[in-house]
Amino acid sequence: MPRPIHATIHTAALHHNLERVRRAAPDAKVWAVVKANAYGHGIERVYEGLRGADGFALLDLAEAERVRHLGWRGPILLLEGVFEPRDLELCSRLSLWHAVHCDEQIDMLAAHKTQVPHRVFLKMNSGMNRLGFTPQRYRAAWARLNALPQVDEISFMTHFSDADGPRGIAHQIETFNEVTQDLPGERSVANSAATLRHLGDARLRSDWVRAGIVLYGSAPDFPEHNAAHWQVRPTMTLSTKLLAVQHLQAGDTVGYGSRFTADGPLLIGVAACGYADGYPRHCDTGTPVLVNGVRTRLVGRVSMDMVTVDLTPLLDRGMQLGTDFGFGSEVTLWGSSSHGAVLPIDEVAQAAGTVGYELMCAVAQRVPVVVDGAA
Ligand SMILES: *Cc1c(COP(=O)(O)O)cnc(C)c1O
Repeated sequence: MPRPIHATIHTAALHHNLERVRRAAPDAKVWAVVKANAYGHGIERVYEGLRGADGFALLDLAEAERVRHLGWRGPILLLEGVFEPRDLELCSRLSLWHAVHCDEQIDMLAAHKTQVPHRVFLKMNSGMNRLGFTPQRYRAAWARLNALPQVDEISFMTHFSDADGPRGIAHQIETFNEVTQDLPGERSVANSAATLRHLGDARLRSDWVRAGIVLYGSAPDFPEHNAAHWQVRPTMTLSTKLLAVQHLQAGDTVGYGSRFTADGPLLIGVAACGYADGYPRHCDTGTPVLVNGVRTRLVGRVSMDMVTVDLTPLLDRGMQLGTDFGFGSEVTLWGSSSHGAVLPIDEVAQAAGTVGYELMCAVAQRVPVVVDGAA
């Protein structure tokens, strides 16, 4: 028997979250962002739930090939564009649209031999200072691209640094609009946070929104808002089982470094999940977890293959060890328990000092994944 840990991908939740994005952006087309192997879910596993999108956006060419291999004939956008000249051959062959963010990429295009001109998204660095042409150089880049026979339609894109926070998007969108306002073509500016929080802003015209994290049921602006506020559902559940129960007395400690000491009699469970499964070692006593759908907390340190959980809340509900819970009971590290309760990934991420994005992406190879296809 393999260890009882597994991840479940919820097809119906992906579908629901995509519809949620459509409601937030009724006039825009939706790029489903599936970079990093669909935020750790697996491109092949999310395809059914997300195939209602207008296109798929990602940045690894091998992942783009996988999307085409699934039979997707619609748009695919390479968010970082190409890395070397031969990537353009793959773009031609698979008709991939690609971002153009630097002069080197224009040079590559100018030297590229293609029958069919490429659709490109010219990226502006409007303040994030990662990729893109500065506002001062943007129009010259556009003019250069526009003169190339290798280039078909040119669209405009930029990326927000603070769509989820107090600084907001005004400083970036004003620059972007000023520079692009009289240029012909589609615009793609909004990520998940901007789509949920700022689409009412009249300055923000996005013909294509780029929805990532919201599709996977995590709130882009947690803890200001949670997933329930945005009406999105978890698309990944990480669950396992109890493989032991220990009865502690006052003064007994738990796990490596004796980080937790019982101050009285305490029943704890040992669950088959550790940092080698991708569960963050930074989670410590207090991190939320569900046992048989009942919310409780981690106690002590996360080890490689195990975590320890406080079983007091189950006893408090009148549940009996041995009859109602014990060896083999379901433990939900994040996502939906089979008892109906939900533990948002964002709460676990917060306890680890990180974001839901990182936890999803970090689920280890050794964790078996099943797809729950029920609608
Ligand atoms: C990852 C990414 C997105 C999606 O971001 P979310 O916060 O997950 O919605 C959008 N645009 C670009 C350029 C990205 O790299």
